[in-house]
Amino acid sequence: MGSIAEARCDCGFETRLSLGGGMHNYLTHCSFPYYCSDCKSMFSANLYSESIICSKCSSQNVLAYDDDSMRIKTPDLEPELLPIRYRTQTLWEKILRRKPEKIQEYYQPTKNIFDWNSSDILDRNPALTYEDYFCPSCEKYSMKFYIVGCWD
Ligand SMILES: [Zn+2]
Ligand SMILES: [Zn+2]
Repeated sequence: MGSIAEARCDCGFETRLSLGGGMHNYLTHCSFPYYCSDCKSMFSANLYSESIICSKCSSQNVLAYDDDSMRIKTPDLEPELLPIRYRTQTLWEKILRRKPEKIQEYYQPTKNIFDWNSSDILDRNPALTYEDYFCPSCEKYSMKFYIVGCWD
């Protein structure tokens, strides 16, 4: 199931995009935002297609929005500790009054607001985070993506 995203910037730039793929095309189609450096616009294209050109000016100078240069990367989030649990003991261990074994698990929080499992097709899983992205309109890193719905 794909997502519907909205990109909004402080400068007033606002646009709506569909991301990912639907029930019938998800194996061949993953819609994702791109930036064209020739006509300075954002457009969505299929990440899985072999050559991607700008939908406005047909330029090939395009960059997917999951490229590191398209956003201000903030430090990775620290893993969070989950409450300690204890391994269930056998009756024998209880009789011997063995100390229960602690199980400490971690939870890795994510910055992603959208990601798509594409490791079979691409060498990466494309994702968008809640960080600040490059705005095609004012050319500052002050645009954010928001997920506003889904489609299939
Ligand atoms: Zn263009
Ligand atoms: Zn802007």
